[in-house]
This record gives sequence, structure tokens and C-alpha cells, in this order.
Amino acid sequence: MKNIRDFEIKELTELIESMGEKSFRAAQLYQWLHVKLADGFDEMTNLPKSLREKLSEDYYATLPETVEVLTSQIDETKKFINRMKDGHVIESVWMKYQHGNSVCISSQVGCRMGCKFCASTLDGLARNLTSGEMLGQVYRMEKDTGERVDNIVIMGSGEPLDNYDEFTRFIRMISDKNGLNISRRNITVSTCGIVPRIRELADENYGITLALSLHAPNDETRKTLMPIANKYSLSEIMPAIEYYFEKTGRRVTFEYSVVEGVNDNKNEAQQLVRLIHGMKQKGRLQCHVNLIPVNPIKERDWKRPDRSKIEAFQHILEKNGIAATIRREMGSDISGSCGQLRRDYLFKE
Ligand code: SAH
Repeated sequence: MKNIRDFEIKELTELIESMGEKSFRAAQLYQWLHVKLADGFDEMTNLPKSLREKLSEDYYATLPETVEVLTSQIDETKKFINRMKDGHVIESVWMKYQHGNSVCISSQVGCRMGCKFCASTLDGLARNLTSGEMLGQVYRMEKDTGERVDNIVIMGSGEPLDNYDEFTRFIRMISDKNGLNISRRNITVSTCGIVPRIRELADENYGITLALSLHAPNDETRKTLMPIANKYSLSEIMPAIEYYFEKTGRRVTFEYSVVEGVNDNKNEAQQLVRLIHGMKQKGRLQCHVNLIPVNPIKERDWKRPDRSKIEAFQHILEKNGIAATIRREMGSDISGSCGQLRRDYLFKE
């Protein structure tokens, strides 16, 4: 069974025509799938029953099923566990901000990048998600909350640039004016730094914001946290980031998960300043640093530094003209994030 939401409008039109139907049926079908957010072919009452039956022989149109929702009492954040057609579960998050509703979605079931502090990667990669499954997470949350999504971050489980084709198809479809029509300026993708794909994304210029998981100001420390640092050094990553900025004009975010005793001292803050200044001198790079107090996972021994230490780190960056924020934790009363919720669900009795 294939997800009918994986098809872009052109492909869907070809499919419908190949079934001997008129092309306007494809437009109707697309609207059910991507605007009315139908949860199955049965709802599509203006399509002939025969067509719906024929489609359901090879395709399904149901959305991921919500199997668990946790709602924060503090800030209304909702964390969703969704089950895919084949039984795999993934997590996505709904956050309410003053400037609108943001959702965080997963791009893979599990992950093969192996970052040492991240729960998503502990069991490796199960499989890639398809574009339709990524869309499904957003649509499911819109339906369950009854509200519109304004911003999307692809920062859930998985490495989006390790699932490049499905990820970029998702970007095209979620921003399609015949679909939910979400502005690409309101979409952010986070990557651990797969250099050739960053360059490809820059060339394709979707106009989305790029966030790089930096986490350390030098290769040596970075390697202790992120295996991908053995493959691509900062001397390759930083020019790719500059290239992304040059091509798209989008301000780049550096994510820096702060881990006690690993990357949180003054020297590291100063090294980070030098790294970023080195880039700025060459070009016009606009960037900011987002400090993420590490979310300790029970399988590993990483600790979150004291707030004052993180603020001191931030201060060094700001004193040197680098915009830096400390990530506000959302839904802190409803389990961790970054794949921890899914693991809790999978391993509970
Ligand atoms: N694969 C993408 C998306 C990962 S999740 C990437 O690597 O960027 C989004 C961010 O959360 C990444 O910066 C990731 O490194 C970070 N992260 C994952 N687990 C974390 C944890 N336990 N504490 C703090 N940050 C974490």
C-alpha cells in the first residue's frame, strides 16, 4: 500500500488520467488530501465511488493515527505520538507562541547519525518517512487541535538531509498554494551538517531557514558528541553555511546544545566567537546562536550546566556582537523531547 499523499499534483494528475479519469478529478482529490485533510477515501463524497474503490486497491488516504497526546499544564504545548500505516510510531510537537502556532515534526523513524546526547538515534534508523507521512504529522495536528499551523520546524527525530528527496518534496507540497500554502519563510530545517546536501539545498533555494547543529567550536570536541564530525570537518561545513547564506539571503541559526564539562566553558565560547567572526570577515553572513541547555537522557550521563554558566556563555557571544538566545523549554512537565517520548511509549509495559 502506498500513501496517496506522497504524490505532487502533477503526478497525481498523471495517475488519475492513467486510470481513465478526467484530470479535474485529480484536483478534487488533491483538495481532499491537502486542504480538507480527509482521513480516508470514504470522506471524499464528490468523487465517484468507483474511483475511490479503485484507488483504495493500491493506495491509502488515512492520516497517521494519534495514539497518545500529552498536554502541558504550563504552556499548552502538546506532544503527539502518531502511528504510521505500517505500525511504526513517531513523535511530533505542537507549540503555542505569541507569533503563532509552531509544529516540530520528524523526518525519519529513528536516526543513524549517532549524536551522543540524542535519544532518537539510540536504536539506529528504522526507515525514512515519506513526504506524505511528514505532511500527515502536520495535518493530524491541525485536525486534532482545530487550529492553523503558522511555523514548521523539521527538528524532530531523524536527519532530514539524510532523507533529502522526501524532505524536499515535503517542502514543495506544504508550501503549495493548492495545499496548506505555508510560507517557506516560516519553515526551518535543522541538520547535523551533511555538507553536499547543504550545498544542494542552497542551489535549489527553497527559501527556508537553515539551522546547523554545531554543538562545539572545534572538530575535536565536536567529534566527541557527533560522529558526523568525523566525516565533515568545520573547514568544510562553515563554507557550506556561508554558501547557503549567499544563495538564499536567509539568516542562519547555529544550534549549540550546552553540556556540562564538555562544551560550556569560557574558552569554548571564545573559540566560537573566533569561528563565527572568521566567517563574517569573509562575507556578509547573518547568523545567530541558539543555546540549548542539554536535555539529559537516562541512557547517558550528560548534565545540563547551571543557568548562570549558560548565561555567561551567552554574554561572551553577545559582547562580541553575536546574537545569542537561550532556548526556552516548552512543555517541560510532559516528558523530554528529541525522541525520548517515543522511546517512553515503545518501552512501557
Ligand atoms: N538531525 C537534525 C535534527 C535533530 S533535533 C540535526 O541534527 O540538527 C534538533 C536539535 O536538537 C539538534 O540540534 C540536536 O542536536 C538537538 N538535540 C537532540 N537531542 C538533544 C538533547 N537531549 N538535548 C539538547 N539538544 C538535543
